[in-house]
Amino acid sequence: MGIQNIAVIGCGTMGNGIAQVCATSGKNVRLLDLDEAVLVRAMAGIEKSLARMVKKERIAASDVADILGRIQTGTSLEECSDIDLAVEAVSENVQVKTKIFADLDRIAPDSAILASNTSSISITLLAAATKRPQKVIGMHFMNPVPVMKLVEVVRGLDTDDETTAAVNELSEQLGKVAVPANDFPGFVSNRILMPMINEAVTCLMEGVATRESIDEIMKLGMAHPMGPLALADLIGLDVCLSIMEVLHRDLGDSKYRPCPLLRKMVVAGHLGRKTGRGFYEYS
Ligand code: NAD
Repeated sequence: MGIQNIAVIGCGTMGNGIAQVCATSGKNVRLLDLDEAVLVRAMAGIEKSLARMVKKERIAASDVADILGRIQTGTSLEECSDIDLAVEAVSENVQVKTKIFADLDRIAPDSAILASNTSSISITLLAAATKRPQKVIGMHFMNPVPVMKLVEVVRGLDTDDETTAAVNELSEQLGKVAVPANDFPGFVSNRILMPMINEAVTCLMEGVATRESIDEIMKLGMAHPMGPLALADLIGLDVCLSIMEVLHRDLGDSKYRPCPLLRKMVVAGHLGRKTGRGFYEYS
């Protein structure tokens, strides 16, 4: 039997999108977060995103109610006792994630796959918090999830072929393309993307150019669809900083040192789109 019942843990920027694409593909979704208010905001965000999909004629207006009906929200991991797969998408923090993996291991059926949407944290480390390391895998979706095609699939040291095949099959059912990467800090996507964003912030800090010029140069000159500072705002500056910290610590190379301006922005609470202010302002 394929994967039908999916828990998505954490409904911030990524969890919303993951829940939406799973429900749109006919899966039953349990969307879990810490409190009701976050869940209400998340469901409103999903409804808005589905309305955009209807406008673009990607889905029929008549499907929206069914899609929303397939998403149940909740605040307790205990609701994961009958799932086929959990996709963990909580904040990029090792302690928080390892605790969730240990809890999921206790609650979810032995047959369930435990996946993480982590951007940089070792899948092998998360697997070590469980007694089923062969069923733990990285399922790294891209932002915004309903639009971006890639799922970077990361095997931990003990992930087995059956788990990898199931996750590849699911990715295809979600309309995504699964591409494998090995378990190194930041995998492929953020090993390459995040140092570029960090360097763009350093250029801004040193006055090499304005924010607009930095983004325009990378868009017009390198054919990037978004400039690196606008992209950082979309990702979340706290997420960017966490990823740079993992690269810096785990690869042990000073070239991954997080830019002091990035740190300062995070300390000030200017996290990008999600707080209304990052390198740009959002209403
Ligand atoms: P976010 O800060 O927008 O959301 C995180 C959510 O996790 C919040 O709603 C928070 O309440 C919830 N949370 C925290 N602790 C929890 C717990 N113990 N139980 C349940 N929920 C909890 O973060 P995000 O940007 O959605 O990132 C989530 C994960 O996805 C991170 O691992 C990040 O690295 C990864 N990721 C992010 C992006 C991106 O562009 N933002 C892209 C790919 C992957």
